[in-house]
Amino acid sequence: MTASDLSTSTTVEGTSERTAAHIETTERYAAHNYHPLPVVLAQGEGAWVVDVDGKRYLDCLAGYSALNFGHSNERLVAVAREQLGRLTLTSRAFFNDKLSGFAEALTRLTGKDMILPMNSGAEAVETAIKVSRKWGYEVKGVPAGQATIITMEGNFHGRTTTIVSFSDDDVATSGYAPFTTGFRSAKYGDIEAIAAAIDETTVGVLFEPIQGEGGVVMPPEGFLTQLRELCTERDVLMIADEIQSGLARSGKTFACDHEGVVPDIYIMGKALGGGIYPVSAIAADHEVMDVITPGSHGSTFGGNPLAAAIGTEVVAMLEEGTFQARSAEIGEQLVAGFGPLVGQGLSDVRVRGAWAGIDIDPSLMTGRQMSEALMARGILAKDTHGSTVRFAPPLVASDEDVAGLVAAVTDILAAARA
Ligand SMILES: *Cc1c(COP(=O)(O)O)cnc(C)c1O
Repeated sequence: MTASDLSTSTTVEGTSERTAAHIETTERYAAHNYHPLPVVLAQGEGAWVVDVDGKRYLDCLAGYSALNFGHSNERLVAVAREQLGRLTLTSRAFFNDKLSGFAEALTRLTGKDMILPMNSGAEAVETAIKVSRKWGYEVKGVPAGQATIITMEGNFHGRTTTIVSFSDDDVATSGYAPFTTGFRSAKYGDIEAIAAAIDETTVGVLFEPIQGEGGVVMPPEGFLTQLRELCTERDVLMIADEIQSGLARSGKTFACDHEGVVPDIYIMGKALGGGIYPVSAIAADHEVMDVITPGSHGSTFGGNPLAAAIGTEVVAMLEEGTFQARSAEIGEQLVAGFGPLVGQGLSDVRVRGAWAGIDIDPSLMTGRQMSEALMARGILAKDTHGSTVRFAPPLVASDEDVAGLVAAVTDILAAARA
């Protein structure tokens, strides 16, 4: 190992030999595109995971909200097992007997006419971009090759070359030029700035109703309603990336529901696959989706029967409403627990459903240090930027679990202030 290898490796000091061996092998053979906490997980159930040494942790990241329904969710695992033994892949060259039900269920959940299934979140975002541009040329009448899409400052939409083209995160973009053109950035939540950025070439406004990677950042109240009105008035598509904010995370099925707003395109991913399998999709009405014709877009695995079976069960679970209700309850507990810490080590707290972003006073500790201190107390979470930590426990977390999180953060801040 060279000195530079060592400097980018996760520290293994103070961990067991077994844990250290997994970390060293991973760091040696897998590219260093993440900086994980020094814990090696082997099992999970509900809101809890167990490491290779048998130590239990409350999972407050939940696979970046892919695990909204918890680890090893009984219903989802049963459906996946059953489908594994039956049929897993047909490609879209043929029909399969699971996509029909999945497509129907997801249109019911979104209220849209059609869906287009993909795999990863980034692929669904790419799909939304392609569909919006094609709609711009074929329906709106934008001159060929001129389409623009308005994006938000501080956004996170995934990692493909086109998607990082409109990221303002230097780490995400550095070294990857040249970038895709046709995107125009506006301040998040600033309806005037967005209105000013729209012109006759604009086909859509791509936004997160809550910026998850940005640190659970919410736009000002009324923004979603204003954006809906603006998009309708200017004939541009309102494209909501609900990959992280959707599917019960924010206390509602979609974060747009908090203002009763319906976008033109929903982008979904993460929890759509129940944390078992990558499943993503966009949903839109005929006017938009009908621009897609045979051969104009595709994916070998998109809409496969295993994905569709899991996704159908996810929708069935969401239609019962219990996860949304539980998310809202957890949110109340987080507000009550974290709210009083503002001025006591936190400079800001943002909560929507079972989703919290806390900004730590940077003179006390970094977000990474908070995550490490939490890990020592049996809680797993991850910093987003600098001194911001995001908490998104599985929605099956108990009141006791959430109380444990609040108590740990409170103690760690108190110790740092002492
Ligand atoms: C995670 C995420 C994506 C990308 O999803 P991947 O499955 O990692 O490609 C896109 N948008 C948002 C808002 C996300 O949180």
